Amino acid sequence: MKLYDIHEIPGVEQEVLDYMKNKQHEKVVFCSDEKTGLKAIIAIHNTNLGPALGGTRMWEYPNTSAAIKDVLRLSRGMTYKAAITGLNLGGGKAVIMGDSKNKTDAMMTVFGKFVNSLNGQYITAEDVGMTTHDMKIIYKETKHVVGKPKELGGSGDPSVITAYGTLMGIKGCAFYRWGKDSLKGKKVLVQGLGNVGRNLIQLLTKENADIYVNDINPDKIKEISKQYHVNIIKEDIYSAKVDIYAPCALGGTLNETTIPKLKCAIVAGAANNQLAKEYVHDDLLKKNNIIYAPDFLINAGGLINVYSELKNFSHNQVLAKTEKIFDTTIAILKKAEEDNISTQKAALKIAKEKVLKKHCA
Ligand code: NAD
Repeated sequence: MKLYDIHEIPGVEQEVLDYMKNKQHEKVVFCSDEKTGLKAIIAIHNTNLGPALGGTRMWEYPNTSAAIKDVLRLSRGMTYKAAITGLNLGGGKAVIMGDSKNKTDAMMTVFGKFVNSLNGQYITAEDVGMTTHDMKIIYKETKHVVGKPKELGGSGDPSVITAYGTLMGIKGCAFYRWGKDSLKGKKVLVQGLGNVGRNLIQLLTKENADIYVNDINPDKIKEISKQYHVNIIKEDIYSAKVDIYAPCALGGTLNETTIPKLKCAIVAGAANNQLAKEYVHDDLLKKNNIIYAPDFLINAGGLINVYSELKNFSHNQVLAKTEKIFDTTIAILKKAEEDNISTQKAALKIAKEKVLKKHCA
């Protein structure tokens, strides 16, 4: 296992190095292991509030610069997610370059040693392309792992709590727009029926919302239709006449093509990086009088859940902290209105202040 500093990695574009400097990342380390073929990068954005926590993603990037760009962007997002949620955590992230189909246990063992070499400055968890089995192997090499399965003393699947936090965010937006947080009869479109989307539909059913669904996978639609009363939208989903659009699939669905089509009053969902361009499409939503709940604020339930492993929180404490997303959402919407800025900018402003003051409460 050989470790390199970002500046020593051959072929890294200057643009990537400039991004790192601008966004003030504390540390970026590259690990290369010839024997297993592991190529992994860990980025630590900021540790003012605590150790940097963020999942490990395995993805086939077109080149090293693309992988570094992704890990820099994702680790920065984690800093602000923890800060806005009031958690004593910093922001970090890891990426493993390669197709997850080619992953081996030997590779995961080396990756575990890599995480361990940072002595707890970085705590890892599961993300895209990783499995519970991988996390178990990594955990053999380092104790700096959260989101572990329950049989290893972990908090288990975080998506249940992520969905609960997302519901809190949706209700906060509803309260702000309509004066009450009830979702009874509100038309809510859930895009993406995976782990979070499915749990969110269960909660929305209890709220007596009028649920609309969309997924690129027809099996997911079939499965959900068997369990819940839902309306299926197959085409032209962005033009759907709904009150609330909850993106729970991939990022980037809010852009110059989709936003002008939206008929909803509120966009609030769990997907990460919903705004295709963070500082452009937030303003476009504002201009179109659509309330946008910043994703990093309302999808933090999963982070709260894994944080409980570090702090020995009970399930009730996790729920109580997640319920606070309702109040925080309202506070952000108010701040945005008072300062006449987008909700994204208002949320980032508050998160950045907390990081600078080294105080997250
Ligand atoms: P998942 O992989 O279980 O589900 C994603 C679903 O979206 C799948 O059913 C997939 O078929 C569908 N999908 C993909 N592209 C689509 C498209 N273009 N249109 C419609 N459907 C599409 O993922 P998940 O764990 O449910 O996470 C959903 C989102 O929430 C992701 O963006 C994730 O990063 C974010 N998130 C998840 C958690 C968590 O606890 N799982 C926490 C924070 C944020």
